[in-house]
Amino acid sequence: MTGLPNRALLIDRLQSALERSRRDDRTVAVLFCDLDGFKRVNDTGGHAAGDAVLLETARRLASAVRPTDTVARVGGDEFVILVEPWKRGSATNEAPSQARSEAVSDRDLAVQVASRITEAVSQPITVQGVDYVVTVSIGLSYSGGGEGLTGSELTADDFLQNADTAMYRAKGRGKDRLEVFEHTLRSELAERGRVERVLRRALRDHVDTQPVRGVSPSAASPVIYPAYQPVYDSRSGRLASFEVLARLTDADGSDIRPDVFVAVAEDVGLIQPLGKLMLHLACKQLVEWRAATPAAGDLTMAVNVSALQASHGSLGRDVTEALELHGLTPSDLILELTETAFLRASHSTLAALRELRSAGVGIAIDDFGTGYASLRYLATLPVSELKVDKSFTAGLPHDLTNRKIVHAVAGLAADLDLVCVVEGVETEEQRAALPPGVHLQGWLTGRPQCAGLIDLASLLRTSIPARRA
Ligand code: C2E
Ligand code: CA
Ligand code: CA
Repeated sequence: MTGLPNRALLIDRLQSALERSRRDDRTVAVLFCDLDGFKRVNDTGGHAAGDAVLLETARRLASAVRPTDTVARVGGDEFVILVEPWKRGSATNEAPSQARSEAVSDRDLAVQVASRITEAVSQPITVQGVDYVVTVSIGLSYSGGGEGLTGSELTADDFLQNADTAMYRAKGRGKDRLEVFEHTLRSELAERGRVERVLRRALRDHVDTQPVRGVSPSAASPVIYPAYQPVYDSRSGRLASFEVLARLTDADGSDIRPDVFVAVAEDVGLIQPLGKLMLHLACKQLVEWRAATPAAGDLTMAVNVSALQASHGSLGRDVTEALELHGLTPSDLILELTETAFLRASHSTLAALRELRSAGVGIAIDDFGTGYASLRYLATLPVSELKVDKSFTAGLPHDLTNRKIVHAVAGLAADLDLVCVVEGVETEEQRAALPPGVHLQGWLTGRPQCAGLIDLASLLRTSIPARRA
């Protein structure tokens, strides 16, 4: 349809370009371009609009490169550009513009072509009076030296694959951007693929039992389970709540870090089921604890909600359902969202949070102090708690700046009538440096553990040494 070379022809040209580049000791570059938002064009404008957008994009790509470069179409909305090095040296038939660009390295040239492409593609395309805007994610790979394979080992297929891999990262990092291939990318992607498979299986096979750490229900399968970390009220010295933290163990018994699998879950659309599962398990646990231990009546449960999960649109319903199913009241639950999640939240997400908050659900700003929200903005949020990020606690008691920050946040929280939780309290010295009246969480008062290992009755009986102003 576009009249552009296909994959087979491209591979041919890549092969000869690689041979030339080895002979002349020059660098060839491949740009793997994948349109962002093309599916939307097809969905809203039908295939006629889709075809028109592809044709126009092909035309723009062809005019953004030099005649010596190759533009090929390798898939529905995927184009590949082979950027040949500038001719150099004795050639007499060079245009003045080419001579001038002697100063531009082969590598810079490819980056320049990429930015011309980005610019050209993102201009609106008008089809039958309707403007369509698509952007492009570009993966760039070079034939030799630096981060590329040495020219002599690289096959045309690998060369193309490397650019594709870099394009995949561009998509993952928010689209409409350029990423350059590096070798570590391959192994990173493979590792992410593994984590995804483990997580998928663990979620699919989740059995509602309480596995004791390291002992999965069936030894050879991955398992996901909740761990609970206590939060204490430093004024009374009493246990105030637990935060549920997800744990994932692979079939071989090795643990995958939560920040790693939570990020993967967000990328591949598993954060919704993961978040819902943790919400349910935590509610169920709270009910069990209360039934078994009368003194646990006031205990609350904090659940992490990722930015993407909050923006999904079903958060309000999910929370209400979980509370109803387990017979809990809204004030039994605290939702933790990071500062960054609040900054990214849409109007409808904020409205849902506001509704939950006015129903009595606790809402905490997690990792407080690590985002860039203005205090004016924070004051408008429907929150009941600030959780001071553990990076501030880490410097206590000696780091004066951090000490001042923690005290200032505690003061701010008190003025705004919010609970202040200080995270990451590991030592007695750190605890002694905390402002009065805060809640604290950290290894000093308890690591995250699965419920089976928590002796709740004894935790409720013993209080940490109270600290007064
Ligand atoms: P977070 O919400 O800030 O959780 C607190 C993290 O601090 C936990 O890490 C906890 O184990 C760790 N921690 C607690 N006390 C101490 C301490 O005294 N010192 C140090 N160095 N660390 C301490 P973890 O369990 O590795 O979780 C990391 C992050 O993964 C969490 O950060 C949270 O953002 C995310 N996460 C964990 N579970 C879930 C989940 O169910 N849903 C979502 N959306 N995110 C989760
Ligand atoms: Ca948290
Ligand atoms: Ca935190």
